[in-house]
Amino acid sequence: MNEQVTVMENAFAQAFGRRPDGVWSAPGRVNLIGEHTDYNHGFVLPFAIDRRTVAAVGLRDDRVLRVRSTFTDEEASLAIDDLAPQAMAGWSAYVLGVAWALADAGHDLAGASGLDILIDSRVPVGAGLSSSAAIECAVAVAFNDLWELDLSPLDLARIGRIAENKAVGAPTGLLDQAASMLGREDHGVFLDCDTEEAEPVALHLREEGLEILVMDSRVEHEHATGGYRDRRESCEKGAAAMGVATLRELSEADLDRASAVLDDETYRRVRHIVTENARVVETVRTLDEGGPRAIGALLDASQASMRDDFEITVPEIDLACATAVAHGAIGARMTGGGFGGSSIAVVPADAREAIEAAVTAALSAAGLREPHLFTVTPSQGARRDV
Ligand code: ADP
Ligand code: MG
Repeated sequence: MNEQVTVMENAFAQAFGRRPDGVWSAPGRVNLIGEHTDYNHGFVLPFAIDRRTVAAVGLRDDRVLRVRSTFTDEEASLAIDDLAPQAMAGWSAYVLGVAWALADAGHDLAGASGLDILIDSRVPVGAGLSSSAAIECAVAVAFNDLWELDLSPLDLARIGRIAENKAVGAPTGLLDQAASMLGREDHGVFLDCDTEEAEPVALHLREEGLEILVMDSRVEHEHATGGYRDRRESCEKGAAAMGVATLRELSEADLDRASAVLDDETYRRVRHIVTENARVVETVRTLDEGGPRAIGALLDASQASMRDDFEITVPEIDLACATAVAHGAIGARMTGGGFGGSSIAVVPADAREAIEAAVTAALSAAGLREPHLFTVTPSQGARRDV
């Protein structure tokens, strides 16, 4: 049993005066490639990381859900019969929202007992690694087991997404929750966001002597939420003007017509989505046929497309990626919704320290904020630990 789980069993006993009935956990995620394609019904290739959110949970003999987190003193509680998005606020919506989403999806909670829930996360918040999906998925698997709902991992990912969309109010796609639920060691999760079919893709990082370096810019713009909404609206506008329900339906062969029909900005937004979808499919094929050392150009092209066409990167991210590649990274790109957050570089293990030093020096020389650098390992998705 890992140390975080043992600590949480003890912390739960401290907080609630008894042993938990179980401990569940779910990881954050990194998107290897496929940015902003999810809500356009396209393709994504994320993986679950080796940083997890743990939920220690104990049954109560009433119908109250009581939620605490090691990250704040703020406790929340709500009766199962009172679950409603407007009845929850702040961080506890990531937990209570999942219970509400289960009820809203028609799962029978009539006999469900109340729960004491304690959350602890080692997924950094707001770094683009989806600490939010990690919470949702950790409690989703806990609810599924304790309330004997028998939902599949993919169904639980969908429930987590509904919580994020409707209880928290963030209009995100299924990417984060699918990665957190379905991740496997040394594998990516290739998700078709239209059919919602997911399949594991072997990454072969370890055998190729490669690591994934996360470069957290520690920059978060206030307009991140607004920028995300703007991009969604541009995509909807582009699809409508092109006469398709979603941009998924367009291919690179449609881009000439798109450039004739759309204004320049909308055209570039559409071109990012169309080419990014193609790059995800190509990355999956390349990993299979050529291995991870062959995907560098695809990662770099994705970064350029997010920088120039979708315009969601920031100078800190652009410089970190360019510097990593100039110093021996296989490829590098921003990951996550953009306007700050993190980028990733696929790096030879024996070059990692030199790349880290070069990135830190380049950002410092440019007068930009010092990044937080760390590696992540593709890891197992949500599970019961105890
Ligand atoms: P991210 O990119 O990390 O998912 P979000 O804004 O989507 O960023 O989610 C971060 C939010 O999730 C935090 O503001 C907080 O409300 C909640 N959160 C994350 N970790 C914890 C935790 N350990 N305990 C309580 N709430 C948390
Ligand atoms: Mg999030």
